Amino acid sequence: MNKRWTIDKIREFTEKNSDSTLLSTEYHGFSQKLLFKCACGNNFEKTFTKFNKNNQRKCEVCQPPKEPRGSQA
Ligand SMILES: [Zn+2]
Repeated sequence: MNKRWTIDKIREFTEKNSDSTLLSTEYHGFSQKLLFKCACGNNFEKTFTKFNKNNQRKCEVCQPPKEPRGSQA
């Protein structure tokens, strides 16, 4: 089943599921980077796929990128 996302749904999802705010006003597809504002005040860009599926819902300061698999200490 394919859920069709619109910018309004993404904004709602962002508000309900994260501390970040969606700044982008248009959504053109899953490969597009959207602009978010983190709770700390930083802006960050992320595709919605990463934001949603990979739980990357904060800026890289608050949520540093994970190490590639296999290199965990
Ligand atoms: Zn942050």
